[in-house]
This record gives sequence, C-alpha cells and structure tokens, in this order.
Amino acid sequence: MTDLYDRHRAVLPDWLALYYSRPLELTHGEGRHVWDAEGNRYLDFFGGILSTLTAHALPEVTKAVADQAGRIIHTSTLYLNRPMVDLAERVAALSGIPDARVFFTTSGTEANDTALMLATAYRGSNQVLAMRNSYHGRSFTAVGITGNRAWSPTSLSPLQTLYVHGGVRSRGPYAALSDAEFIEACVADLRDVLGQARGGVAALIAEPIQGVGGFTSPPDGLYAAFREVLDEQGILWISDEVQTGLGRTGEHFWGWQAHARSGPPDVLTFAKGIGNGMSIGGVVARAELMNCLDANSISTFGGSPVTMAAGLANLTHLLEHDLQGNARRVGGLLIERLRAICAQLPGVREVRGRGLMIGIELVRPGTDEPDQDAAAAVQEAARDGGLLIGKGGGHHTSVLRVAPPLSLTVAEAEEGAAILERALRSVQS
Ligand code: PLP
Repeated sequence: MTDLYDRHRAVLPDWLALYYSRPLELTHGEGRHVWDAEGNRYLDFFGGILSTLTAHALPEVTKAVADQAGRIIHTSTLYLNRPMVDLAERVAALSGIPDARVFFTTSGTEANDTALMLATAYRGSNQVLAMRNSYHGRSFTAVGITGNRAWSPTSLSPLQTLYVHGGVRSRGPYAALSDAEFIEACVADLRDVLGQARGGVAALIAEPIQGVGGFTSPPDGLYAAFREVLDEQGILWISDEVQTGLGRTGEHFWGWQAHARSGPPDVLTFAKGIGNGMSIGGVVARAELMNCLDANSISTFGGSPVTMAAGLANLTHLLEHDLQGNARRVGGLLIERLRAICAQLPGVREVRGRGLMIGIELVRPGTDEPDQDAAAAVQEAARDGGLLIGKGGGHHTSVLRVAPPLSLTVAEAEEGAAILERALRSVQS
C-alpha cells in the first residue's frame, strides 16, 4: 500500500485530496462494505462522496454495464442511444419541472457549468447570485462562484457573483433567530444585495442543503421565500441537487421539495448517486430555457450508453425498493442514535441532517471553536475500527459527514454508530 502511495506521489498532483495519514487503496465492494488491499473490511458510510447511492456491486447495475459494454460502449451525442433517451424520460418525469428537457454531462461540475451557461444566455447577463459557504464543483466557472474562497484555487472568475445569506446560521448574528425570523432576515439581505447589483441578475444557484459546507439545512421554505423576490425581476432559480437529489434526504426525492410552496426550480442539476458511481451529471430545465443556447453543444462522453444503462438500472432499483423511504426510516434511527451518543460528549456541538445525510460538528470542549484536529483523529480512529466516514471541506473540516448508501440496514446503522461512538470517545478521552 505504501508503495502505491509513493508511486501516486511521483505521478499525480500534490493537491489531490486524499483521506487518512496512510491513504487507503480500495479493491472491491459489496452492499454497504468495501475492502482495502490488505483485506480489511469497512462499513462504507461515505459512498465515495455520496455516489454509491444504492449499494456497492449492485447486481442489476453490474449486469446492465456488462450487457451494454458488450453491445456498444460509445456513441457521443452525435448519435442516439436508447439508454440515454430512456433515462432522460425517467429523470424528466421525476424532476417536477413542466415540459422538462434533460442534458447529460459527465460530472456535477459540468452540470452546474451548463446550468449557469443556460441561465446567463437566457437572461443576457453574466451576474449571478450564490449562497455564502456554497460549493458547486471545480471548473473555472464553478470554483469562481463558490461562497467559500478556501475551496477555490483561483481568485478569478468568469462570472460576477453576489453572495447572499441563508445556507448556514449556526454562528453569528443569525444564530439566535427563529426559522421565520431567519427567513425574513435572509429575504431582506437578498433584497439588499439585489438593490446594490449593477444591471440584471441571471440566476440564483443554491444547494438545498450545503454539502461540502457541512450538511447544514436552512429552514424549510427559505427558497420559496427567495423565489417570490427573484420572480419580481425574472431571476432564475437553479437548484444544485448533486448531493441532495434522488431520495438522499429521506423526506423528499429532491432537496428543493422542502421549499416547494412556489413550485419547482427553473433549473435542476444532478450527478453523484444517479450512476451509482458511474460518471453521470445532468441538467433539467423547461424546453424554452434549455433550447435558448443557439450554438451546437456537443458532448463526447455525456449520455454515454454504458453510464446511461447503469443509471437506468440504479434508478429502477432505487424506486422499486423504496430506498428513499429506507433513508427516511434508517436515517431517522441513525440520527437519533448518534444524538444520544453525542449528548454525553462535550466536544460535539451538533448532530444534524436529514435522511442519510448526517453531519456531526466537533468543537474544542468548553468552547465554540471548530476542532478540525479532533475530526481528523475521529476519522482515523473510525477507519481503524472498520468504518469509513467523510468530512466537510475548507473550514468545515470540523464536521464529520455520514452518508451511507440508501440501502443501509438497521443492524449496519447500529454497528456504524457503535464504531463511531468508540472513535469519538477515544479522541475525547
Ligand atoms: N455540486 C455540489 C453540491 C457538490 O457537492 C459537488 C461535489 O462535491 C459538485 C457540485 C461537483 O460535482 P463533481 O465532483 O461531480 O464535479
């Protein structure tokens, strides 16, 4: 394993993010488990950043990939392929967007890039709104709009971005407000920001629950309240569902549905879990909006038949086995269990989340200071105990992120919680 890490460092960039002081080489997976090159088995509570949505080595997905690869692997978007059209029909119907059109990409970043391209072209403005503390991917455009500069390797941006409050309220002047007061304050902030904008604003892009930002949920209805303000100026709402889509939050299929008073967003982006690890991203928008780009928009690999076949098999399994319902039930038990464990630990500030998207924020005991070192130590100790978990990004690395495949069983939830309890206690003792 060390040898592989040394070779990795000799040929790959230094800035590639790797977990653990002794990085893990994973060799295979099954269900909710993965194995490393030394034969150790781990419960996987992070799913390769929320991407193993249903289960590792799901037989239907493996078969669909093998069958499709045996027929034709690649077409490009210059030709039709049936799995792409079938998956587009399924996603369009699930999106909630009327007269929906779907464009497939190969990542969440590229999906958001496309959404921003559509919105800025449609509105004739390169000015956008984004949430403070947000993350939307790593292309030049996506890092250029991130609300946390620590996640951007460059300070330049092709877009003019204005940042608004609403994603997080756990600290600062907004912390003490009730849900209704918080929404009111954020709407006032949005109006203030718009009042200072020069010229038209194309769109607001927002994650319904900030992912890399530490799994913080705004109060339900926030984006419906924003929508009313945006509608006054025809500003589009782009919901980045890369982490929150496909039933991950248990209660809803899409994160925007927690805010649904005024209906679906204008544009929805998705990625991660849909292909169960195969690289699929995509954008959904009504026809008038999707068709506003007048140039040919070729994607060599977007909508590739093998990934589309995987996506179809995965989505079918997700719906037929009601894994969203499972995320709600088992996620509800897991969060309660983790809250009970953490209530006795002075270094845990909060256990939060929805469905199987759970964050545990660590602080230095007796203070409100984020404790990144403790989070790194807990992550290592959990790995030693046989459990893989994630962390937030930037200064949210003090937040442990728990996001297992949605097929998690109650017994596995109990087992994972017990390992996590031992890891937390070993670091805090
Ligand atoms: N949007 C959100 C909310 C994300 O969390 C991420 C990745 O973590 C992205 C977009 C980028 O997706 P990808 O890594 O597939 O490019």
